[in-house]
Amino acid sequence: MIIDCHTHFWRYPGELTEELARETYIMRQQEVDLDITPEMHASAVAKADRAIVFGLRAPLTGFLTVNDTVAEYIRTDPKKLIGFAAICPTEDHALEEVDRAVQKLGLRGLKMSPIYGGWDPLDPRALKIFARAEELGLPIMLHQGTTYPRKAPLKYANPVLLEDIALRYPDLKMIIAHIGHPWEAEAIVLIRKQPNVFADISALFYRPWQYYNSLRLAVEYGVADKLLFGTDYPITTFDESVKGLHDVVKLSQEMRLPPLPEDLPAQILHRDTLGLLGLDDPASL
Ligand SMILES: [Zn+2]
Repeated sequence: MIIDCHTHFWRYPGELTEELARETYIMRQQEVDLDITPEMHASAVAKADRAIVFGLRAPLTGFLTVNDTVAEYIRTDPKKLIGFAAICPTEDHALEEVDRAVQKLGLRGLKMSPIYGGWDPLDPRALKIFARAEELGLPIMLHQGTTYPRKAPLKYANPVLLEDIALRYPDLKMIIAHIGHPWEAEAIVLIRKQPNVFADISALFYRPWQYYNSLRLAVEYGVADKLLFGTDYPITTFDESVKGLHDVVKLSQEMRLPPLPEDLPAQILHRDTLGLLGLDDPASL
């Protein structure tokens, strides 16, 4: 079973779309359609067996997706799609929104981002959210890594900042998106010592040198089994992500450098992500 643990769903007209489109073009060297319809998302995850879906909530950088939009989309394929609520602790009623997202919308995890939202992971408002997520068994996908908006504070972005959260809330499941790029080494040493912290490999393949080094480091530290498959759709697609993973392994075997294990793509692609995150398979609910 292949689980794509990192896909976005949003409708995005306006200014923000332009900035995101420009930055995405710089990263991908190709046009990416960022205004996602339910049909587009469904076709993007067609080859995945299950997909985790979320928007992004970060008023500081203009991301204001609405959790109801995700929940409505999840209802179109509830045996396959798992919705996470986008939460920004700086917003009023963020804690109430967690409860509403779970009880009323049926969402089953959270998506949070200190750098996009401009908040310290140890901010008391954030700690309340982490505590509630631990209590309710909600895994949290964290964009704990860099990004492009000028106002987004890098000082809140390093994956090591999540160590205190992992110690305070030992049962809370956290996923560091994009292996915390460009701090993959920090993400790797953190997931090595914190049993409930994982990392996803989404949106890394288009920087092949960095991708090779990140995966090789994960193998050397013995944490490749904590890497989860994700695409970061719409920034990348399923096919490109799978091919990118196979290509980096092939590249490593052609270079006169320490190779990546031949079976690494199969291991990552068939990871029991739902089991690791404590999520029941939606098909069984
Ligand atoms: Zn993403």
